[in-house]
Amino acid sequence: MRTDTNKPVSLCVLGATGSIGQSTLDIIRRNPHQYRLASASGFSNMKLMADICLEFRPKTIVVGSNSNAAQLKASLPSDVLPNIMVGNDALDELAADPRTSTLVAAIVGAAGLSSTLSAVRAGKRVLLANKEALVMSGALLMEAAKESGATLLPIDSEHNAIFQCLSDHRQRHCDLSEASEIKKVLLTASGGPFRGKSREELLQVTPSQALDHPNWSMGPKISIDSATMMNKGLELIEACWLFNLQAHQVEVVIHPQSFIHSMVEYIDGSVIAQMGLPDMRTPIAHALAWPERILSGVKSPIWSQLGPLTFEAPDLEAFPCLKLAIEALSAGGIAPTVLNAVNEVAVEAFIAEQISFMSIPDLVSEALAATENRSAVSVEAIMEADSWARAWARQHLK
Ligand code: NDP
Ligand code: MG
Repeated sequence: MRTDTNKPVSLCVLGATGSIGQSTLDIIRRNPHQYRLASASGFSNMKLMADICLEFRPKTIVVGSNSNAAQLKASLPSDVLPNIMVGNDALDELAADPRTSTLVAAIVGAAGLSSTLSAVRAGKRVLLANKEALVMSGALLMEAAKESGATLLPIDSEHNAIFQCLSDHRQRHCDLSEASEIKKVLLTASGGPFRGKSREELLQVTPSQALDHPNWSMGPKISIDSATMMNKGLELIEACWLFNLQAHQVEVVIHPQSFIHSMVEYIDGSVIAQMGLPDMRTPIAHALAWPERILSGVKSPIWSQLGPLTFEAPDLEAFPCLKLAIEALSAGGIAPTVLNAVNEVAVEAFIAEQISFMSIPDLVSEALAATENRSAVSVEAIMEADSWARAWARQHLK
């Protein structure tokens, strides 16, 4: 983002200690005259947060608990010590702080909803990684962005790719509901580490196998979501909210090489794709600088070594999470919130080896069937549905 003055853009990075947070900091490191880390949040990793404070000298930090705050304080020299705040209210306050114009929403899961909404309500430029926030509260978030004038830019690689495949005019409005020149959006998926496995084979897979993604290096929750393909389901919902599309206008295509990050097909037969090596620094740098471009540190592809690019249809029997997400989207109301919450609980239980891999879709499916659906008109209604679904899931873990 180019500013009128030569002053660097003041950034707030929520989830700075995570995978997306670290990729964002690497871009700031490479573009120090354009961006400055003014504030950040981490939850439990105080060793990394101390390193962030020493290198970037942010003025304000939010952490998850008082003991983490004390640990961070003790590990920093007084001339580096930021203002340290604790907890969810502090996150909301930081997200709305007018001293930062741009915020990267990279907290994982439902925990990121409130702060993302707070930044959107404050009218900021919000770079959205936290897809769960949009899945839970798509209508509210998009409405809030319209009211406040916030600019919502996707950094999930597929959505950033779709954005890049749009004309300048469409990029400025992002509402494709009336875009008669567009035939469909093609959301690519790697298929994850278990692509090609049958339902029976998937009964035996372990957390360490599921965490081992063939192309992307990511945090644990999204890695498991990629293995179950719930990630693609959440992304389909995310795409529908971001670009105001219906589920039938988005086709999921398995593309195991993760080189094409998504595509837009136009009515004249043109299919525009955004390509590049699978490295989240590309979409983050794109969204930070849009409509300009900045260095990201991502290497050039070696075309002669790329090999064939292949495409196939998703296997909805072995990977029912994608289908469940589409069903939740069409049911509307609190169904996507329930899907997301039960999935979060199930993923944690799978990582802790309490349930099997295929119990994740089973649990989500049972929860959706048990849900008395109602509209998700307020944050309170959404958080109540989230709590109900988490309690239901914990009771039904097996
Ligand atoms: P990580 O697990 O690597 O990082 C999560 C971040 O959130 C950490 O900073 C963590 O703090 C913080 N955090 C965890 N729990 C809480 C909580 N209860 N309250 C406040 N902060 C919390 O996740 P990723 O970076 O992989 O993913 C972040 C988001 O971006 C997710 O929504 C994911 O779906 C999305 N995304 C990620 C991609 C990727 O390549 N990684 C790609 C596209 C989207 P700490 O570590 O200090 O405890
Ligand atoms: Mg993605």
